[in-house]
Amino acid sequence: MSFIMRLSWFFRDRWIHYAVAIGLMALVNILGIIPPRMIGSVIDSIRTGSLTAGELQQSVLLLVGLALLVYGMVYIWITTLFGNSILLEKLLRTRLLAHLTRMAPSFFQRNSTGELMALATNDVLAISQTAGYGVMTLVNTVVGTAVVITTMVSLISWKLMLAALIPMPFVVMAISRLGKETRKRFIAAQAAFGKMNDQALESISGMRVIRSYVQEKHDLESFDRVTQDVMTKNMKVAAINALFHPIISLIVGMSYVIGIGYGSYLVFQQEITLGQLISFNIYLGMLIWPMIAFGEFINVLQRGTASVDRLSASFAQQSDVQDPSQPAQAELPSRIELDHLTFRYPGASSDSLRDVSLTLERGQTLGLVGRTGSGKSTLLKQLLRYYPVEPGKVRISGIPIEQLTVERIRSWIGYVPQEHLLLSKTVRQNIALGVPGATDEQVRRAIEMASFTQDIAQLPQGLETVVGENGVMLSGGQKQRVSIARALLVNPEILILDDSLSAVDARTESAILQHIRTERAGKTTLIATHRLSAVMHADWIVVLEDGRIIEEGTHEQLMLFGGWYKEQFERQQLEANLQE
Ligand code: ATP
Ligand code: MG
Repeated sequence: MSFIMRLSWFFRDRWIHYAVAIGLMALVNILGIIPPRMIGSVIDSIRTGSLTAGELQQSVLLLVGLALLVYGMVYIWITTLFGNSILLEKLLRTRLLAHLTRMAPSFFQRNSTGELMALATNDVLAISQTAGYGVMTLVNTVVGTAVVITTMVSLISWKLMLAALIPMPFVVMAISRLGKETRKRFIAAQAAFGKMNDQALESISGMRVIRSYVQEKHDLESFDRVTQDVMTKNMKVAAINALFHPIISLIVGMSYVIGIGYGSYLVFQQEITLGQLISFNIYLGMLIWPMIAFGEFINVLQRGTASVDRLSASFAQQSDVQDPSQPAQAELPSRIELDHLTFRYPGASSDSLRDVSLTLERGQTLGLVGRTGSGKSTLLKQLLRYYPVEPGKVRISGIPIEQLTVERIRSWIGYVPQEHLLLSKTVRQNIALGVPGATDEQVRRAIEMASFTQDIAQLPQGLETVVGENGVMLSGGQKQRVSIARALLVNPEILILDDSLSAVDARTESAILQHIRTERAGKTTLIATHRLSAVMHADWIVVLEDGRIIEEGTHEQLMLFGGWYKEQFERQQLEANLQE
């Protein structure tokens, strides 16, 4: 029941299709009783010697016609029903992906990639099977059984029918027992599958690290354990599945024994004819499939329900960053303010930002420096609204950002994250990600600004080079510059560079920063970096330590102040000079 409830939106939408498919299936079942009945009466005619050639010909023609008709109907219901289940599969996947794109980073901390992939593949498949194969088996069970039993009673003998059906309740009992166990084992198998996905993903993406530490054997062993677990759990599912058929065959077999034994007795008693006995046994045979179908139905339903529960649990997780019901309107961002902002990551045990206040006017450049782990990335992420913030603590144009829609905020921002993310597409597609319709000239300019022009010439297919998964084809510095070109192409109101130039040499870095300064005059830029020369021209520089601002000012002021900044700057200058 919960299966239907959870998917009611789909069934409501597609009910005509289901009605057609179910109607035709029922009709096919009903037509199926005609041939055995004809066979029975032909046999009786033979026995009494009253069969004429004309009659026989008529019967044969009728049977052939019937077969053709059923052929057509079966074709239609199969395509309709399974077409629906394929559609459901597609809809669920699309929904899942749309749901995932709305989730904040904390969702992905809770749900591993492998788990989500298992949902998008195995679970969605199990659900669509229930909506297709499951419906088919259910209809066959209900209609098939009803039709056959009605025919047995009305055309042959209710006594014989009752006797033959004595074993049937055992089928129901056995199947409901097995069904429960199936569901339990199936859930365990799916969970193990998710874990295996995770491990496979990790092994493949981390292959280079694993190799360089000569951990292949160790990695293979641990993967072996996981696959072993998946195998054992799937074996358990298979073991219980394997019980369905034999149990049903056994019980139906007993029905046959009763049918033949008691039926022959009734023929001797002349209560039924020999032809009727034969028809009856054919009908009994026709019950096997509905019974097996019942077992299959329970089996598929249990798996579908387990999967639909898993999927619903994922859909039920709301993003912890919600859009306001009545978003404030703001065309362009002007001043950016942090007002005594303290921030702790969900689930973390200490604050990553403590009492941070700063103001940045439109068009200014902010430099963020400080030791590793001091909170630079964390501060930048506050502007992207990745995490829920205390109301009113972060403001853009004087509006608290929780009153703006996430989409609005992100449309202003070009973000180059610290961990560059490239898609396994061409360089051009990677750069034009935010502006898919960008002209060649626009792309060229963005590349020029990111000082990437020379590198393009060295790539085998230039801009059309496919960079491989997460850009394996490119060097670290090249990846960074593709990410920067991507952000610059959008020409965002606010540009965020999170340590985005760490892998390029100092000369290239200063060229890029020079481009950014001239091209982006009047627009806001935030730069987090370890190389202080990158921010010395910034309008305001903030030094973080342990999530707190310990120094701030312009380059000159900080040099005069003589704290961490001055010491660090001088050391880096010295190093640079030594290298030259
Ligand atoms: P780096 O210079 O190495 O990039 P950073 O200044 O950018 O460092 P952050 O990434 O902002 O440092 O991290 C600040 C603190 O927040 C660190 O102590 C880190 O352990 C913690 N932290 C970062 N991300 C998370 C997270 N997703 N969940 C919990 N804690 C986190
Ligand atoms: Mg960082």
